[in-house]
Amino acid sequence: MAITKKDVIDFIKSLGEAEAAELCLEAFKHKRIESHYENGDFQIDDAYSLAICTFGSNSGEVDEEAIIQLYAQSYDNTSPLPEDGFDQMGECEFCKAELISYDKWVVCPICKKQNGLT
Ligand SMILES: [Zn+2]
Repeated sequence: MAITKKDVIDFIKSLGEAEAAELCLEAFKHKRIESHYENGDFQIDDAYSLAICTFGSNSGEVDEEAIIQLYAQSYDNTSPLPEDGFDQMGECEFCKAELISYDKWVVCPICKKQNGLT
């Protein structure tokens, strides 16, 4: 029996937020393209990530600014995945991307550096 697109979507919808995020990142991991040069310079061409966008509305008007944070995976992967929600956040110390996760110690999805969130 072939797995349909609906089966995949229904399965992802059945997961908790962190579990769904981890599954999607694993599926997109091979799409990251990096170019390295012999002189030590480097260029990262594409870094796929999941963004959590938070926005609100006032009197029916959507706020002009949204908060956009990139999901960051756990550094050591030993913390159990929570059922729901991400309660750790902060700015990447190196590339300044806004990060969100369920774990305090994470790897930035853009620059791959370890960061501590609060
Ligand atoms: Zn970074």
